[in-house]
Amino acid sequence: MKAVFFTRHGGNEVLQYGERPTPQPAAGEVRVAIRAASLNHLDIFVRDGIPDVPLPQIPGGDGAGVVDALGEGVRGLAVGDRVLLNPGLFCGACEFCRGGEQSLCVRFGILGEHIAGTFAQFVVVPAANVFPIPEGMTFLLAAAFPLVYQTAWRMIVTRAVVRAGETVLIHGVGGGVAGAALEIARLAGARVLATTSGPEKARRAREAGAELVVDYTAEDVGAAVRRHTAKRGVDVVVDTVGEKTWMTSLKAAAKGGRIVTCGATSGPNPPEELRLIFWKQISILGSTMANDSEFRTLLAAVAAGRLKPRVDRTFPFSRAADAYAFMEEGRQDGKIVLVPDSSEIPRSDASGDWPDGD
Ligand SMILES: [Zn+2]
Repeated sequence: MKAVFFTRHGGNEVLQYGERPTPQPAAGEVRVAIRAASLNHLDIFVRDGIPDVPLPQIPGGDGAGVVDALGEGVRGLAVGDRVLLNPGLFCGACEFCRGGEQSLCVRFGILGEHIAGTFAQFVVVPAANVFPIPEGMTFLLAAAFPLVYQTAWRMIVTRAVVRAGETVLIHGVGGGVAGAALEIARLAGARVLATTSGPEKARRAREAGAELVVDYTAEDVGAAVRRHTAKRGVDVVVDTVGEKTWMTSLKAAAKGGRIVTCGATSGPNPPEELRLIFWKQISILGSTMANDSEFRTLLAAVAAGRLKPRVDRTFPFSRAADAYAFMEEGRQDGKIVLVPDSSEIPRSDASGDWPDGD
């Protein structure tokens, strides 16, 4: 099969497009013919080099396509079904899995990081990660939302327990998880204060329902938040940025506030002012991906149109390096989706909604 892969870590020069062995589904697994696969910041970290990434590796966590083959014992799916993938991998047997908390699984992993991912003609995943695509949802949308929206959902709904009327500060809402958090916080009835860069991203954040948008390149975020909240601060801070924003998050949190983090795009070791944490009685909440129940609730919310993940553009797999570069330059307005090259598309496929390559 054709796939995007790398045999060593590095920049976009390590990304290759070529032949890899077609994977075979073992018992309990499903092979999916990929029709769309979206790019996440995680894919950049995996390319750069995270411990435990097997080499060579096919990256890609998000994907949607058509069931191509079933391993022994798989029930409830048939060859030809349109499906989307939950990229969170779990054992199903540990105490956390048995308690319904799959993202706490002692062997938790992510598709494209711990096993071969979706930037390929075919991917093999456990059947528990395969979900029928709801009626009317395109492959592009089905591949665009699972990773970032489940991450944001667990942060806002489960970990921070954001309530109607609360104030939520979200850093860098141009980012995938942060943008999803803005939508989900609004759905929960919260008032959202957002930071971003440039007038165009600021306009979109206001359209998405942020009542205050601070351009962090032009204005002091802490001062703007203090002014807007009459010095009180915000109930919840969503911080996916890390080193660059952490001190602002501690200062912007109200007394008794919560700060929730799922990642650190600017670096993982921020300065920490412990006096602010104990004096203001701030709760620091970690969050990773989502559990099965949260994923199903999210899928229903997207299917019903209550959340509207946005696809910016598509690139063919053969131009994956250009897609990565586009993301690293921060030029995207919504998700970047990779699709099979037109020469690799089986025209016998009658599903009729092939996404167009760039
Ligand atoms: Zn487990």
